[in-house]
Amino acid sequence: MNNRRIKIAVQKSGRLTENSLDLLARCGLRYSRSRERLFCYGENMPVDIMLVRDDDIPHLVRDGICELGIVGRNVIDEKATAADLDKVIALDYGHCRLCLAAPEDHAYDTPAALNGQRIATSYPVITRNWLTANDISAEIVEFSGAVEIAPRLGKADLICDLVSSGGTLAANHLRELSTILNSEAWLVAAPATQLDDFGREWVERLSQRVRGVQQVNGSKYIMLHAPRVKLAEITDLLPGSETPTVMPLDGRDDKVAVHAVCRETVFWETLESLKQAGASSMLVLPLEKMLA
Ligand code: ATP
Ligand code: ZN
Repeated sequence: MNNRRIKIAVQKSGRLTENSLDLLARCGLRYSRSRERLFCYGENMPVDIMLVRDDDIPHLVRDGICELGIVGRNVIDEKATAADLDKVIALDYGHCRLCLAAPEDHAYDTPAALNGQRIATSYPVITRNWLTANDISAEIVEFSGAVEIAPRLGKADLICDLVSSGGTLAANHLRELSTILNSEAWLVAAPATQLDDFGREWVERLSQRVRGVQQVNGSKYIMLHAPRVKLAEITDLLPGSETPTVMPLDGRDDKVAVHAVCRETVFWETLESLKQAGASSMLVLPLEKMLA
């Protein structure tokens, strides 16, 4: 089938949108955004983007409407089971945590203090699982938004909500008690057994490109000249690099050129130590693409 295409579900408008579209662009996808902006047609690959509410992404992928999706771990755990979705790659953005919080005067010492209490949350599934795992019997009050005002309204004793900086909690005189889930955005796929050959091939190809983009982030390419006698000492100083490439320099027997990919930040201090060890003509370059 040559008109077969792959769909990736991405949050339409919210905290994950910009990073997710940016990541796909860095994977080489060129797309045009349609007027109603629900669908981006991939111009240079058989890959389209569906822009939807983040809450719908786990089911769109589970039901095979989209082969891939980008969504927060909090939404994955709330809406899907491990059998529904394959969590392919943690993307290192959209960091937040799902926390229990209580009014500042709430007497909380151990999780057992939650027995018999009412907890307001928009994450009933995750909260229920955590309560069960900790052997706590508490009542869950479902809220779809503005969970932080539930205690003031007398609707709950505590809340379980997403936090990134903690500013909203402080503004509502709430104290963070414990983290029940650490979350970040994930690339998710339908389980491989549910995909046809074309789907599997593209899920694999795009996953590999996402890994390539992640490897490039923070990596640098370093080139320098080293006295042969100092080669071992100098390569030991290169941060996070595997076997460097060593090349002869025309007309020089005492020096070689060393090229290496450094997977850690190359600081000025690193260059200064290299210079002290005898390195010269040092260049540090950004990397654009990498494929292992
Ligand atoms: P939608 O209209 O798509 O349903 P939303 O209001 O549910 O949007 P956003 O507030 O845009 O979603 O958050 C999207 C995701 O970003 C969250 O599910 C979570 O994974 C992540 N995130 C990161 N920091 C925060 C935060 N401080 N509060 C809420 N979500 C956060
Ligand atoms: Zn949402």
